[in-house]
Amino acid sequence: MNTQPESQPQAANPAALLDALLARRAVLQAGALLGLAAVAGCANTGGSYPDPVEPGAGVRGGEGPLSPQRPAATPTPPRPLPSGPAPQPQVGPVTAQGVIRRSNWTRAGIARPGDIYPLRSVNRITIHHEGVTPYTATSEDATRQRLEIIRRGHVTVRGWADIGYHYLIDPAGRVWEGRPIQYQGAHVKDQNENNLGIMVIGNFERQLPNAAQTASLDRFVASQMRQYRVPVSRVFTHRELAPTECPGRNLQRYLVMARANGGSLRVALAAAGAPELAFA
Ligand SMILES: [Zn+2]
Repeated sequence: MNTQPESQPQAANPAALLDALLARRAVLQAGALLGLAAVAGCANTGGSYPDPVEPGAGVRGGEGPLSPQRPAATPTPPRPLPSGPAPQPQVGPVTAQGVIRRSNWTRAGIARPGDIYPLRSVNRITIHHEGVTPYTATSEDATRQRLEIIRRGHVTVRGWADIGYHYLIDPAGRVWEGRPIQYQGAHVKDQNENNLGIMVIGNFERQLPNAAQTASLDRFVASQMRQYRVPVSRVFTHRELAPTECPGRNLQRYLVMARANGGSLRVALAAAGAPELAFA
């Protein structure tokens, strides 16, 4: 028995029909992309692409309630997010920090507002790679399409509330806004609380991060460390928190060097005016 209302006018509306077809195509693309991800995803534990977030209690696609936080090895008081009016007015395509706003690549809102949780503070940062196919395209349009495929994959295939990462860095070094920062991300299973998620687009198990990406990563991570007072000891890669190959051996190697004494992240911190965070 068809329980759908029969009075929907969309089928007779060519524009709506085109939208529906495009949406279906994007879903299929996302499915194909995540099919590839089955062998090399961000959360790869050796051949699979498991859910990096805690499933809701019996609810498919739920991002899970706020779980009791594990005692941290080096407890750091959470840094409150800047307070003020919750929704930031979207003025212009780029933020003061040079981040390309979400509105520049998608008009989609949070797909499952009931499944998303506030990010009350930030006391650590986690770096990821996309981990699907090696990726080198540098045009803005290519990145827009890639971001939308990732978002749809997370929403329609994984069943999450929204794209999992807060920020994404493309092969030209541009930083794009993903999940709005007022929300907890979905990027490290059971460890999303207070955790800022940054993803570098590409598969760094199979390719090298380029100079534009690494320079941007250092600069942007340093700016976020300064903003939330996160010391270098609280900047992690995904594999340092969970059994996964993410962010790939090449980006992992880079980040180990970047965080070390004299490394590029410490240099960027000094340039950002927060050298003290390099020694905490
Ligand atoms: Zn990851």
